[in-house]
Order: sequence, then C-alpha cells, then structure tokens
Amino acid sequence: MRKPVIAGNWKMYKLLDEAVETALSLKHSVANANHCEVIIAPVFTALKTVCDRLEGSNVKVAAQNCSTEQRHGAQTGEIAADMIKDVGASHVIVGHSERRQLYGETNEAVNLKAIACVNFGLTAIVCVGENLAQRESGRAETVVETQLSRSLEGLTVSDMERIIIAYEPVWAIGTGQTATPEQAQAMHQFIRSAVENLQGNEVAADTRILYGGSVKPDNISGLMAQADIDGALVGGASLDAASFAEIVNYK
Ligand code: PEP
Repeated sequence: MRKPVIAGNWKMYKLLDEAVETALSLKHSVANANHCEVIIAPVFTALKTVCDRLEGSNVKVAAQNCSTEQRHGAQTGEIAADMIKDVGASHVIVGHSERRQLYGETNEAVNLKAIACVNFGLTAIVCVGENLAQRESGRAETVVETQLSRSLEGLTVSDMERIIIAYEPVWAIGTGQTATPEQAQAMHQFIRSAVENLQGNEVAADTRILYGGSVKPDNISGLMAQADIDGALVGGASLDAASFAEIVNYK
C-alpha cells in the first residue's frame, strides 16, 4: 500500500519567526493525522530551526533544492544534500518548475540532485509537468515522459524507495486553475506506466505520485479519490497552517 504524502512548499516566503510559528501551529493541528505523511519545505534559513522545533512530531521537513555536487567545495551559494541531512531534514524537492523556468534547471541537473539525495539517505520529491503550450499542442505526455526518464536515469530499483514523483502541470501552479481530478488521474496513470517501463511493475506499484497545482481544501478530496493520486504538493495553500491542516485532514 502506498501511504499518501501531503507536502507543503513554502517557496521564498516566511522569515524565521513566521516559519516557526506556522510549523508549530501545524504540528498541533495534524498531530493525529496518521493516514498520510506530512512534509513542509521552508526556506533554507529556517530549515534547521524548523527541524529542531518539529523533532518528535509527525511533520517531516524538506529542503526546496540542493546542489548537484556531492562533494563539498568551491560552489558559492550552493548547499549539498548531506548538509541538508545534517540539520535534520528528510526530503528535498528537486526540479520544481520554478527552478526549471527561472534558473534553467535541466533534467540532467535534476538527475544529479536526485542521485545526491538518495546517496545521502534523503528522499527526493522529483517534479515534472508540462506547460500550457505543450498541453495544448498534445505534447504533455511526451514532455513528462522525457523529464521523468532523464531525471531518474541511473537510479536503481532500491534507490526508487527514496523517490517521490510530483506531477505539477505548470499551467496549474499558482493560477487557481487546478487540473480536474480526471485530467490529473490520466497523467498519473501515464506516469505510473512510464515508471513501470523504466523500473518494473513492483517499483511502479510502490512509487508515490503526488499532484501539485492550486490544491486547496475544497479540491483535495476529489483529487485524492483518484486511484493513482497518492498525495499532493501544495504551494500557496500550505503557507497558512489552518488551510494546510485542512488539506492534510482531507478524510
Ligand atoms: C507548488 O509550488 O508546487 C504549487 C503547486 O503551488 P500552488 O499550490 O500555489 O499552485
């Protein structure tokens, strides 16, 4: 059985005090949520403090990015995966569309980051998703398949235990325009079959595939009712502890 995952991506929001306040409020309101894994991804400057304050709770902590480099070195501004592990985080979001679009992150870089995470015992949340032009021209599946196969290149069957996939159609991120449950399910089913082609049917059956794109308290249950949707990666609605807790407690 795939345990659902509800992950909140705080993007570049919240000063340290705000991050701690939201994290502590969430810790309290999802304390009884055993039906899913709960993850929040604060900015790097809040990562260690939030990890410390959530220790012993059922809220896990993710970084929003990591270096492609596994060895420490002269890489100004970068943060290696083992440094993230060192402060108590357990997950890293890699290949978010904002990083792909704004910082030119390639599938090859996403692949190196995913490998770095796995090698240091972190779980990588690998994001894929087509933009509007790609969907409208009928290329959504090809785009997603390419992102997936290149981002997961070289990973073994056992590495895949540390990979979560997030399908985030770019046209749905921060736009309020969620994919319908049926649209999302169709792509999730496609992604699962692509994982099966790459890694076999056992891995495909076990891999969690999250949906991301304007997930809110009022649309989460319709999405979670779909067979291949195993959770959500939530941006805007995760910034407020009460609305994120509502999403976590979708059932
Ligand atoms: C995201 O940042 O990954 C995201 C899905 O954002 P939003 O929920 O705001 O669309």
